[in-house]
Amino acid sequence: MPQQDLAFWQSRAAALAIEGRAFIDGSYRDSASGRQFDCISPIDGRRLTAIADCAAADVDAAVAAARRSFEAREWAGLKPRERKKTLLRFAALIRQHAEELALLETLDAGKPIGDTTSVDIPGAAYCVEWYAEAIDKVGGEVVPADPHLVGLVTREPVGVVACVVPWNFPLLMAAWKFAPALAAGNSVVLKPSEKSPLTAIRVAALALEAGVPPGVFNVVPGGGEAGKLLALHMDVDCLAFTGSTAVGKQIMQYAGQSNLKRVWLELGGKSPNIVLPDCPDFDRAARSAAGAIFYNMGEMCTAGSRLLVHRDIKEMFLDKVLEQAAQWKPGHPLDPNTAMGAIVDQIQLDRVLGYIEAGRAESRLLCGGTRTLSDSGGFYIEPTVFDARPEHRIAREEIFGPVLSVIGFDDLDQAIGLANDSEYGLAAAVWTQNLTTAHEVSRRLRAGTVWVNCYDEGGDMNFPFGGYKQSGNGRDKSLHALEKYTELKSTLLRLR
Ligand code: NDP
Repeated sequence: MPQQDLAFWQSRAAALAIEGRAFIDGSYRDSASGRQFDCISPIDGRRLTAIADCAAADVDAAVAAARRSFEAREWAGLKPRERKKTLLRFAALIRQHAEELALLETLDAGKPIGDTTSVDIPGAAYCVEWYAEAIDKVGGEVVPADPHLVGLVTREPVGVVACVVPWNFPLLMAAWKFAPALAAGNSVVLKPSEKSPLTAIRVAALALEAGVPPGVFNVVPGGGEAGKLLALHMDVDCLAFTGSTAVGKQIMQYAGQSNLKRVWLELGGKSPNIVLPDCPDFDRAARSAAGAIFYNMGEMCTAGSRLLVHRDIKEMFLDKVLEQAAQWKPGHPLDPNTAMGAIVDQIQLDRVLGYIEAGRAESRLLCGGTRTLSDSGGFYIEPTVFDARPEHRIAREEIFGPVLSVIGFDDLDQAIGLANDSEYGLAAAVWTQNLTTAHEVSRRLRAGTVWVNCYDEGGDMNFPFGGYKQSGNGRDKSLHALEKYTELKSTLLRLR
């Protein structure tokens, strides 16, 4: 077993063959126009490969392939246990190719290799396994009805499902959508972000190798325009999206302008992490608060970007958080010891630095605040902490970078008011020893996930994931996600 250090991963990266074409109806192909865009690594600004820039003709071809395979019932018509077998093979192939996929993800998105090998790729394989295992165990209902009737309520696949996904967890976010959609018998058109298309393109071939029929799983890399075309498409039955709230709002409009396709949105967040004076362990809470905002470079929809601390303990706790922040030094993403990698691209780097400038103007900078490792040609930002007030821009808007706003409060009601004073409602956390306080605060927090005495726990698939308010609708993960990709049908049989 070779030693897996930076040199090991660099040599693997140098030997990597990278596919950049679209995957439509069971084979790789260039875009119809022949147009391509460059795939740039945020690690060092180097061009990795050219990617097919899919436009209307490609989106139409992918949707037509999905429709044909769906109508022919090549996948939807299989026994659930046959779909399960195929999806388990697909998951096994993802695991078999884990090293290659982790490398692609790290090169493409700048995520630390330690994370892509331990979280992103195994997480995606596990997600596919989970829905594979579930699909031959969920059934419909026989409901109470008049004595002369038999009443059945069944779930049927919606048809053609488009998945439009972001760049922060490229394969994992895609899997959260395509796995339940495929398990339920749909045909899928996946559009990865143009910032991180490589793993989506690669796993399409693995799905085919596993036995997913041609046309059932298609990948159309392209920019926002390809996503818009899918959202406006008259033959897409359902669109599942993860990304910004602004684009989520547009997608709902596109659905209204076209065929009222079902739209499921997992959007942004500005999640509060509340530390009360009776926190059971301040050291663990500080470590967790730093991880909540610096893990994945802060490019997390659930990032604990607002740290609300009771004023009685604020100074003491801030010292601990700053100590922890120092542990998150940016480094080379291919070095297994690196905790914080590169920001995904120049645009996101500029966006985060813009927020830091806004923060410098109105809040008090406590650490970080600058770009670093510029000589590499890549995009790195130091972990940054501000002492802020709730009305400051950095404390209200989603930054999607390693920037923490610490806000003081005087009592519990004020903390809950501040926590809920956001257009978002994706996640929240509270630290307290008191069981009653824990339950009461959790109930009052308007968020899809609440953590008590932890943050970002729950890597298994059993918990529904999604937001209140402008953080979106519907839920990824868990059996509830199957509801998004199925229609309910009532069948009434008259006996006499
Ligand atoms: P977007 O919301 O623009 O991108 C998400 C996905 O939607 C990508 O595949 C993108 O394609 C696609 N897309 C873009 N425009 C359209 C459109 N008009 N119709 C349909 N699909 C579209 O996120 P950004 O990459 O621009 O990031 C900006 C901000 O969004 C971040 O700073 C962060 O605040 C937030 N965000 C939140 C995420 C979350 O997990 N909740 C994830 C990513 C971003 P393409 O990338 O190819 O343009």
